[in-house]
Amino acid sequence: MKTDTIVLGAGIVGTSVALQLAERGRSVVLVDRRGPGEETSYGNAGLVERASLYPVAFPRKLSALLDVALKRNPAANYHWDALVRLVPWMFAYWRASAPARILDYARHMETLLAFSLAEHDRLARAAGAKHFFREGGWLKLYRTQAGLQNERNEFPLAHSYGLSAREIEVDEALAMEPSLRPVFRSAVIWSDPHSVSSPGGVTQAYAAHFAELGGQVRRGDAGILARLGSGWAVTTDEGSVEAPEVVVALGPWAMDVLRPFGLRLPLQVKRGYHMHYNATGGATLSRPVLDEEGGYVITPMVGGIRLTTGVEFARRDAPKSPVQLEKTEVLARGLFPLGARAEPEPWMGCRPAFPDMLPVLGPAPRQNGMWLAIGHQHLGFTLGPVSGRLLAEMMTGEVPCTDPRPFSAERFG
Ligand SMILES: Cc1cc2nc3c(=O)[nH]c(=O)nc-3n(C[C@H](O)[C@H](O)[C@H](O)COP(=O)(O)OP(=O)(O)OC[C@H]3O[C@@H](n4cnc5c(N)ncnc54)[C@H](O)[C@@H]3O)c2cc1C
Repeated sequence: MKTDTIVLGAGIVGTSVALQLAERGRSVVLVDRRGPGEETSYGNAGLVERASLYPVAFPRKLSALLDVALKRNPAANYHWDALVRLVPWMFAYWRASAPARILDYARHMETLLAFSLAEHDRLARAAGAKHFFREGGWLKLYRTQAGLQNERNEFPLAHSYGLSAREIEVDEALAMEPSLRPVFRSAVIWSDPHSVSSPGGVTQAYAAHFAELGGQVRRGDAGILARLGSGWAVTTDEGSVEAPEVVVALGPWAMDVLRPFGLRLPLQVKRGYHMHYNATGGATLSRPVLDEEGGYVITPMVGGIRLTTGVEFARRDAPKSPVQLEKTEVLARGLFPLGARAEPEPWMGCRPAFPDMLPVLGPAPRQNGMWLAIGHQHLGFTLGPVSGRLLAEMMTGEVPCTDPRPFSAERFG
């Protein structure tokens, strides 16, 4: 079978690229070894994090670094064997986390974030997925004055971009979320972000809409991508597909496919866990809540209250070590009346991340007809639709909605 474009990876990023291309009249085959939205794009915290101008940066203060190193901060965990291998990547991450470079990050990221809500909204309306979305922002809770002060430091930048962050009293936070217990001292409501009750459901709805537009979703192993003349070929369950262009949107697995073509990009993973719980005693939650010092987020989802953890530095395929879930569950039970675990074992996924925390969107270096949409780290669910738009605009020669140069793979040489 011949098509215009093969998209490899049906997470939120690949699915959005495929859909945006189909909307522009391209014939597209979307290939995944699983169904759409069953991996990282299923398991996240469900935030469309419009206001996330500050990245999850490498700790710059010695005290914060010690908390991570000594595993005192439940937001972070690491495996020693992974750390040794990650030293060059960590050094680059540390450098990119310098205050001046964070401002550059924010400037570049804002060019994508500015479209994040509108692009999700447009796709969700077209795909009949609006019922998954809710407004109301997200609530961040602080157990210490120092935690609140760190958050306050982010306000000026957020306000300079017209975003709303408002410090509120405990009573006001409890009025917004009456089932929370007052184990925190202060709170901040960020009103701009939206959230969803099923990130996997949203991705699947976008994939279904892509199919309605004539796109094809097929099962296949991207690991057998091959050069075919000046184009590309991949084998799927329904036979071989050939196209002049291929998009690699394989999230944490992208380098498995790119390395054999000689591409060396510093993509690593930040693992994370989730578990669902039933709420007891008729307790309700209407938006995601971050317990800053507790190092977790709870989000109301179709499967129950989803507790998601922070970052674990470990080899992508190393066995699960859900120590953060164990620690944060205790804290979360103090904050909200969580019932029994709803699943026999925790879900684990991997945030695909470059050390400068920006994604790669654009042509692959030295590979004619190959395009990349990878490395969306903590913001892939937020950015999938706008990343898909930007890439589709580049591929079809439209004027791009924003300058794609900060997201070029060439920045890594
Ligand atoms: C705990 C946690 C919480 C998060 N919370 C949020 C949040 O609240 N908001 C937010 O914006 N982001 C969040 N993220 C980040 C977000 O989930 C990711 O950035 C995003 O899902 C990445 O999407 P993707 O499409 O690049 O990758 P994926 O969703 O992983 O998709 C990659 C696809 O490639 C397929 N694939 C892999 N190898 C092959 C192969 N060889 N052949 C065929 N197919 C293959 C996989 O099956 C998969 O479907 C969170 C992540 C985690 C782990």
